[in-house]
Order: sequence, then structure tokens, then C-alpha cells
Amino acid sequence: MTASYLVKILLIEDNLAEARLLQEFLKQAQSKEFTLVHVKRLQEALQEIRKDTYDVILLDLTLPDSQGLSSLPPLMINAPSIPIVVLTNTNDEELAIEAVRQGAQDYLVKRQVNTDVLVRSVHYAIERKQVLETLRTVNQSLQSRVDERTAELVKANELNQFKSEFVSMLSHDIRNPLNTILLAAGLLQNNDDKLTKEKKHTHLQMIRSAIKNMAQMLDEVSLIGRADSGKLSCQFSPLNLEAFCRQLVEEAQLNVKEKHLTLVFASFGELTEAVWDESLLRHILGNLLGNAIKYSLPGGQVQFQLIAQEHSVIFQIQDWGIGIPQNDQKQLFQPFHRAENVGTTPGTGLGLAIVKKCVDAYGGKITVNSEVSFGTTFTVTLPLIKS
Ligand code: ADP
Repeated sequence: MTASYLVKILLIEDNLAEARLLQEFLKQAQSKEFTLVHVKRLQEALQEIRKDTYDVILLDLTLPDSQGLSSLPPLMINAPSIPIVVLTNTNDEELAIEAVRQGAQDYLVKRQVNTDVLVRSVHYAIERKQVLETLRTVNQSLQSRVDERTAELVKANELNQFKSEFVSMLSHDIRNPLNTILLAAGLLQNNDDKLTKEKKHTHLQMIRSAIKNMAQMLDEVSLIGRADSGKLSCQFSPLNLEAFCRQLVEEAQLNVKEKHLTLVFASFGELTEAVWDESLLRHILGNLLGNAIKYSLPGGQVQFQLIAQEHSVIFQIQDWGIGIPQNDQKQLFQPFHRAENVGTTPGTGLGLAIVKKCVDAYGGKITVNSEVSFGTTFTVTLPLIKS
């Protein structure tokens, strides 16, 4: 502190003579300028600190409206950053020490006060309080930095866990088709002259479908990646929605026939002209239809309904297959999540995650209604965007 620094003191002292004496001491101080406001009661002091700022409070512990240490808490609550120096008589030094323990910066025994003692005490009280305040803010910012960092680490950890799950699933799911390819290619190479034309055809077919599987999986993974980095945007163009749905049904027929299923498509309502993102629609409906077929029991039925409304279109895909346990329904849209009842039905657990991301990108809604052994209905509502 320099001599030009003006120290504002609030003196709380009911004894006029004592107050005047302290004022005199301060006047004699050479190094600093002090201004002192004198009040006689705690209530007055509280009013004072509300309307003005002070550098230090000198507090007598025997006041008409407050006795002993009970003066400290109201002052410390109302002015937490102003240092307090307690004034005591010779006989209550213990009380003064207790006051320091409770948060006062210093104490002065009245009989022993002189200019030097008073100035030094005020000076140290202010400095100590400033150091404490700085420590408190440093501590606070350290604490919030620690909190932030902890949150970051938790997130990074979750992300790492997700990534390693992703990698292990991916390598597992890629190894299967790769093995198939290696096996079929090996058979073709080593038994070229022994194999019938039909056998060769079967092996080549196996290779083709394994490659198709891998390509699809890579597409799915990259789609999820794009969606996660916010790069999945809609590209609208005019589309005959009903014809598009019929085409999807047509494409699914091969799998439907293999399982002896019936796939029924029906369209309701008047479809007004609108624009659609064909690629997102294909991901959404293709996956839902594929699942309905995959998780149906042989000989069952799958229904695909298109319901046109004024401002939206509802797609409903219903099957009477294995159903989804209640417990799994909550995590259905998480990548890699597969329900406990899938048995040996193949799958990656990525389809529904993609469906959800595409529906979200569209600003639509998806709900599921399912019961184990009874079947499943997925309902997707997408907004109608007029061209
Ligand atoms: P998967 O590749 O395993 O089919 P999805 O992400 O498409 O992955 O689906 C996640 C899980 O949801 C599936 O593994 C299955 O347990 C369940 N599921 C999805 N659709 C159906 C359905 N129509 N019937 C029964 N279970 C389903």
C-alpha cells in the first residue's frame, strides 16, 4: 500500500471517548490517509456497509445492541470481503482470540493501542484479507477447472468406451464375411477341375453376398459417423412416395419369399405433391422393413402402411414376429444394441441407430410398440415438405 491509498474505516464503538482517541491516533499516522466513519451500534453499522464500501471494520465487542461474538456473523455475512479488527478491553483477550478464530483478521487491546499499532493492524488486516480473497477465488476457479476437466474426462472415457466397442464389433462383423470370402475363394482355387458348374456358382454367390454385407456395414458406420458430426443434412427433391414405397416392397420380396412370408403394402389418404430425401427415406424404411422380415417367424405376415395426412406422413411397419423385450426397448436406438431374444438371427445392431438419426435429421418422430412373442409395430411420422 502506498501513501496515496485512502483507507476507509468503519468504527463500531459506543464509547465516545474511545472513538475519539482512535481518531486521534489515525490523524497522527504519517504514511497513510484514513477516513473514518464512526457508528455506535451494530444496526447502524449494518446500514452503513449496505450503502457504502469500506476497507476495514474496527469492532468493539461490547455494544448496546450486540454483545461479544454475536456481532461477527451479521457483519461477515453482509460484508464478507471486509476485514474485521476486534477491539477489546484487557480482561477479555480470550474472547478476542476466539473472534479471530471465527474469522476476524486481528484484535487490538484498547489500552495498548497507539498510532503504530493501530496503523499496522489495519494494514495487515487488509492485506491478509486480500490474500485470503485471492486464495478463495483461485480455489474457486481451480475447483471449477477440476469440475470441467472431470466432466471432459468422463465424456472422453464414454467416447473411448464407445469407440473401442465400435472397433471390436466392427472387426468381428467384418471378419465373418472375410472368412467366408477366403473359404469360398480357396475352394474355387483348389478344386477348380473337380467342382460342378453349380457348385462354382454357389461359391461365387457366397463371395458376392459377403462383399455386399461388408459394404453395407461400412456404409452404415460411415452414415453414423456423418450423423454424429452433424453432416447428415436433407436433400429434397420431388418423389412419387407411393411408387417409391412399392419399389422398396418389391426389393424386399426375395427375403420375404425365402421365409414364406406375406408382405402387404397399403396406402391411405391423399398424397399431395411434396419433396423428399430419397436416401434418408431408404435408410429409414429399408431398415424397418428388413427388420420386420428378419424377426418374423416363417409363414407370418408383415404390413407396411403409408398414411398421408395434411402436414405429415405416417409410415407404419408391423410384424407378428418375436417382439422386443420391454427392457431392451429403451436402448433400441443405441448403436450395437441387440435385444436378448435375437438368438442366432444375424445383425450388427446398427440399423435402428441409423433409422433414428435419419428420422432426427428429418425433424420427424419414431415410436415402437412391441410385445415379446406377439410382434412389433414401428411408427415413423415425417413432416410433409411442399415443393
Ligand atoms: P440388427 O442388425 O441387430 O437387426 P437393429 O439396429 O436394426 O440391429 O435393431 C436393433 C435390435 O432391435 C435388434 O437386434 C433386435 O433385437 C431389435 N429389433 C428391431 N426390429 C425388430 C423387430 N421388428 N422385431 C423384433 N426385434 C426387433
